[in-house]
Amino acid sequence: MRKLRFVAVLAGLAISFGSAAQHDSTMLRNIVEDVLVRGAAYENLRFLCKKVGPRLSGSPGGVAAVKEAARMMRELGADTVYLQECMVPKWVRQKGDTANLIMANGNAQPLYITALGNSEGTSAKGLKASVIEVRDFDELERMKELVKGKIVFYNYPMNPRYIRTNSAYGDAGRYRTTGASRAAKYGAVAVIVRSLASNPDDYPHTGVMSYDEAYPKIPAVAISTNHADLLSGALKKRMVSEVYIKTICGMQGQVVSHNVVGEIRGTEFPNEVITVGGHLDSWDLAEGAHDDGTGCVQSMEVIRVFKELGIRPKRTIRAVMFQNEENGTAGGKKYAEVAGKDGRKYIFAMESDAGGFSPRGFGVSNSNDSVRALRVRQWAPLFMPFGIYEFTSGGGGADINPLAGLGTTLVGLSPDSQRYFDIHHSALDVFEAVSRRELHLGAGVMVGLIYLVDKYGN
Ligand SMILES: [Zn+2]
Repeated sequence: MRKLRFVAVLAGLAISFGSAAQHDSTMLRNIVEDVLVRGAAYENLRFLCKKVGPRLSGSPGGVAAVKEAARMMRELGADTVYLQECMVPKWVRQKGDTANLIMANGNAQPLYITALGNSEGTSAKGLKASVIEVRDFDELERMKELVKGKIVFYNYPMNPRYIRTNSAYGDAGRYRTTGASRAAKYGAVAVIVRSLASNPDDYPHTGVMSYDEAYPKIPAVAISTNHADLLSGALKKRMVSEVYIKTICGMQGQVVSHNVVGEIRGTEFPNEVITVGGHLDSWDLAEGAHDDGTGCVQSMEVIRVFKELGIRPKRTIRAVMFQNEENGTAGGKKYAEVAGKDGRKYIFAMESDAGGFSPRGFGVSNSNDSVRALRVRQWAPLFMPFGIYEFTSGGGGADINPLAGLGTTLVGLSPDSQRYFDIHHSALDVFEAVSRRELHLGAGVMVGLIYLVDKYGN
């Protein structure tokens, strides 16, 4: 008898669990369909790319983007939209980065280069020196006696063996970020770094670098992959006499900028905050479409869908357009600093900053020690109908990672990564490179996951 009753209770639980799952799956379907049919992300992205354009923090485009992002979130129905002040570095590039390969026979040929972000430029006259090619830092160490007075050329390609291209980016990225000072230590006068690009093409890809204050701040440029191969081939055949570089750029102190926050206040637990965001700033060479206009407009979509479908969240939901991810992450740091002091509980944060391509899954942090992270993984079957099958451990994003200290569960959207580094940080990162369909499917599953986190909370 007793046993029977126990079985009946278990069956009841299974039924109620089954209907909850059924309800969740219906809601997810409604949410994703709403974005696919009525999504505003693509048109918001068009505006951000075509009307605002490049949005490096501290630049006029950066200022305009703050104003426009705030307007968009108001129009999408946020209860409150506000700016969160932060200080950002102001790095300025004058037009016309140039380089020439000067051949042994006296002929010159232009090289496709671009100054790296945060780097100091050459003099107005430019600089000319012979070039020493190294594959990696080990080779630099072996050849250090030969470096003085020369331009060091790091020709380290992204490793195609990595299936996730972001791993190859992380691996090759150290030459861009630290290569200048490593070479300056041995007396180099400039560095040329092979672009962090997965395609052979003519576009140099910029990106942040930083200096070790112990050594001279020498100019640092990226060279297109095609021209890295060209330069390398010419050096091997001893056809090169020197390379000429002119970049007029540099730091101009710090200026005030802002994160833009759009909020829907929670009905039951307003002090529990769910954050979803992307970064509003972009590099200056293009429109910052995939990096990270897409993450911004996808995050704003959470506000639109909740309003459109009449979902009143229990917890406070914030779409945050972070400032200065590209060359300082001042916005992400400021957001976490304020979060650490305002007495609220930052239970969950999601970032989309890996391109607006077809979503494949989510990377989830704290997978071993957090109940919430475990639960996110248990929702995986609900996402299968949308082609979301990768729930991997290790996730987050540069802007939300500073929240880790507050125990926030961090999640990053993982889109297909194969084409991201064809365009990333180059002149190719324009609105036309984004598919409306892929962008909206990504936004849909992001809203779906935020819906579940809000519903189930802790
Ligand atoms: Zn980015």
